[in-house]
Amino acid sequence: MSCDKHNYIPAFPQRLSRTFLNIIFPPRCLICSAYYDFRQVSNGKRTSDSLSDFTIQYFCETCRKDIIRTASPFCTKCGFPFVSREGENHTCSECLLEKRYFRMARSFGVYQGALMEAIHHLKYKKKTSLCRPLSGLARETFFQFWDMSTIDLLVPVPLHVKRLRERGFNQAHLLIRRWAKQEGITLDCLTLSRNRHTKPQTTLSRAERRKNIKGAFSLRHSEKIKGQKILLVDDVYTTGATVNECARVLKKGGAEFVDILTLARAV
Ligand SMILES: [Zn+2]
Ligand SMILES: [Zn+2]
Repeated sequence: MSCDKHNYIPAFPQRLSRTFLNIIFPPRCLICSAYYDFRQVSNGKRTSDSLSDFTIQYFCETCRKDIIRTASPFCTKCGFPFVSREGENHTCSECLLEKRYFRMARSFGVYQGALMEAIHHLKYKKKTSLCRPLSGLARETFFQFWDMSTIDLLVPVPLHVKRLRERGFNQAHLLIRRWAKQEGITLDCLTLSRNRHTKPQTTLSRAERRKNIKGAFSLRHSEKIKGQKILLVDDVYTTGATVNECARVLKKGGAEFVDILTLARAV
């Protein structure tokens, strides 16, 4: 007997029930709160080429179109997307001037517009319903640049305990928690710890940034990271000083290499 018979789900009743549900409970965009119609997805039409189809369940078309993915040409080291959309990937001037302790950094999208708003809603308004779509985008970025054979350990950039208590969660952890478990990738939230909270880095010079972040992180059990291929995860790559300092501490503790994944990249 054919297995197809068991797997067959009639498309028409499924579409009808989804349409009916959309009329009773119209979906609301998790970013701008607008009610919207996502029936196009049941018709198999894509509304945006830049975002995965699964985000249509969470974001309206306007917000989806406002999210810009990072794309080549970008810096081979820090992943900075160059303004010119022509030419090959190469090392940026910042990476030539400053020592990078990580091997490479990559991001899902540019930190502006709807993606920036989504991250702000999650972090500052504690809108944790955004975890599912945003962690889905982080997962997609992971499989775009890495896989389970290239990474041993996922490490979220830690928050200081005071900040963690205020916020109630670490957004970097939320971005990977669900799928790391599903994919069977080891997640380590304990080894790397933050000793003190630091001032925002954006207004500081390069030298001030280094001084500001120096000594902010330490290792609790360095034997856990010895020889490990580590992917450090954060929500935003702004100046790179934070992830670079984490990478320095992890490398000093014996990590084989440290790569960086962030959801967004400031440009
Ligand atoms: Zn929206
Ligand atoms: Zn660079």
